[in-house]
Parts: sequence; structure tokens; C-alpha cells
Amino acid sequence: MYQYTEVKGSSEGVRRYILSLDNHVSVIEALMAFCTEHNIGCGKVSGLGATNCATFRFLDPSTLKYVDKTFEEQMEITNLTGNISRKDGKPYLHVHVTASRRDYTSIGGHLLDARINGACELFVEDYYLTSVGRRPDEQTGINLYQF
Ligand code: FE
Repeated sequence: MYQYTEVKGSSEGVRRYILSLDNHVSVIEALMAFCTEHNIGCGKVSGLGATNCATFRFLDPSTLKYVDKTFEEQMEITNLTGNISRKDGKPYLHVHVTASRRDYTSIGGHLLDARINGACELFVEDYYLTSVGRRPDEQTGINLYQF
């Protein structure tokens, strides 16, 4: 699903990894597997890559309804940024993506999932904090951080 290496010289309290996801895997599945394998309860993820199927989610703040949309076309993941926390004893990923199309215009949003078609290269930082959880917030409809 992925290959990885740990960055040597990681500073105290932070462990850093470089990941290369296998072609055709789901980004979220691979990241969840990596976070579970390394027991990451609080961290950061960033990266880039290419996808041919990505599903974004938009939260309408006036209705608190989610609108999901899937784009089945080849796109560059020009930016993937997100955080790792924990909810119900499992890793909880909050990831946003900007992706560029063949005509160089970009789309993006909250990432539900993306299938890699090409490569996906990620940096993951583990902050060694086990106390960062999530709680559902009625007003925003978002699972907010719980410190
Ligand atoms: Fe989001």
C-alpha cells in the first residue's frame, strides 16, 4: 500500500516520515493504515501526487448539509494538507486537497477520498500527543478538536 522511511534527526517530540503511496491505492485508506501502524494520535500530513478519481465534500453552513461530488478525471494533486487526531479510539483524518485539471484550472475541497493514478508523495509528522481528540459541534456541524 505504501513505502516509507523515517527522517533521521527528527527533533524531540516530533517524528517525521516520508511516504510513497503505491499506484491505484486510496489515499485515505493508506493514510489510515499508516497512522494505525505507527499509532499516530496527533500529527500533520502534507504532500502532492496525481489522481484519476477524487471525491470532495462541501459543508453548507446555512443548512449544515454535506454535498459530496466525485471527479473522475486525471488531475495533479497540487496540494494535500491535513491533520491527524483521534476519535473513538481510531485515527481521525481531516484532509483538504487542491487538484489541477488538464486545462490547468483547479478544484478542491475537503477530501473524502482519492485514488492515486501515478504517484503520491507525503510527509507525515507525529507529534506524540495522545490527548487530541474530536467532538461533534452542533453549531457548525463539524467534529472540532478537543484538547
Ligand atoms: Fe474539512
